[in-house]
Amino acid sequence: CVPTVCTGAGLRSNDEFFDRSTAVIPGGVNSSIRAFRSVGGRPYIVARADGARVYDVEGTEYLDLVQSYGAVILGHAHPAITAAVTAAVADGTSYGAPTPREMKLAEAISSRVPSCEQVRFMNSGTEATSTAVRLARGYTGRDRVVIFHGNFHGATDALLAAGGSGVATLGLPGTAGVPDGAVAETMVVPYNEVPTLDESVACVIVEAVAANMGVVAPDPAFLAGLRAECDRVGAVLVFDEVITGFRLGTDGAQGAYGVTPDLTTYGKVIGGGLPVGAVGGRRELMETLSPLGPVFHAGTLSGNPLATAAGLAALDHLDDGTYDELRRRARRLADGLTAACAAAGFAAQFPVVGTLVGMVCGDVDTPTDFESAKRTDEAAYGRFFHAMLDQGVAMAPGAYEAIFVGLAHDDSVIDAITERAHAAAAAAVA
Ligand code: PLP
Repeated sequence: CVPTVCTGAGLRSNDEFFDRSTAVIPGGVNSSIRAFRSVGGRPYIVARADGARVYDVEGTEYLDLVQSYGAVILGHAHPAITAAVTAAVADGTSYGAPTPREMKLAEAISSRVPSCEQVRFMNSGTEATSTAVRLARGYTGRDRVVIFHGNFHGATDALLAAGGSGVATLGLPGTAGVPDGAVAETMVVPYNEVPTLDESVACVIVEAVAANMGVVAPDPAFLAGLRAECDRVGAVLVFDEVITGFRLGTDGAQGAYGVTPDLTTYGKVIGGGLPVGAVGGRRELMETLSPLGPVFHAGTLSGNPLATAAGLAALDHLDDGTYDELRRRARRLADGLTAACAAAGFAAQFPVVGTLVGMVCGDVDTPTDFESAKRTDEAAYGRFFHAMLDQGVAMAPGAYEAIFVGLAHDDSVIDAITERAHAAAAAAVA
């Protein structure tokens, strides 16, 4: 069946939609990586999705490993999310006043993550990281920010130097349009090495598990070392858990690795697939935010009724048992993909960190930092990506993105993906 969104536009094919989009949207996309630039070709245009499947405007079905880059952990169009959003929308979409649901979502996060005594909501992970940096600077009265090569914190000027994800995919050292002044106080250091800090540092912001240069685990001593070094100089430690929050486990990477940050940034899962971001942390630190403190934060749609309804429904479905199951599925998928590639003689590995799976192409060591992550064979990834797409499996169109396994990927879906991967790997061998 062709969704009304397509028939209404009078267009039927992916190419027709993409061509018309490129006339009015730069590159035809609203997030750079979606344009397929690094893997070549043209994107499929999604008309609808359901569980582990997405359907393009031509009706082609794909088993989906993108899952909105990790935002829809329950799977697409999950009945509980649909019901929660449908119920909320009838009461109005945004008010510009406090609501019960934002209180409940803050309580849901705070009760699950001990370090988040208070939570402030916003509309994206990008907003969350930029707010966390402003908060840390305002709290400490210092300017310097330490980030790690290959980590990605969204499109925040001060944090875009040497980033992962789309920045890495596009091969940019940073981005045009960021004045020197915006990054003058940003120090970029290697991932998995504890830097020596001084008293000029406001905060260290880190992806506790790196998931934007492929999936790279932290060394056992890395996160604890950052905690100790921040304590030594009085700097704020920020864990960017936009991907790992409520995906690695109930209390995210900080729970998995037993290291407590001062601030945590969230996005993705806590919005159940709707636009959301959040900063959580110690009460005394969070109360530096306006209206109690001097660090300004505001947003027309912050704490949005639909996003908080969806987020509450998502968190309702996630408990320790769910994460055990997701870890099992991640391992099953990685093992299946590894076997498929090995059988075809296509050099690739699929590192697993908890519930996250990465892919590294080529005959290279398992990455531990951005230097080693960049040894992945991007051209080989592009071939595998397209071969999988031809088989009806959608992966992210970039060699540095994670593979997202969710509650919709039951064993039959995982086994279908690995079966198709056998043919794809054979086709992708150079
Ligand atoms: N931080 C991390 C670790 C991310 O992976 C992302 C996006 O993928 C962001 C921040 C930015 O989040 P958003 O895309 O919601 O702005």
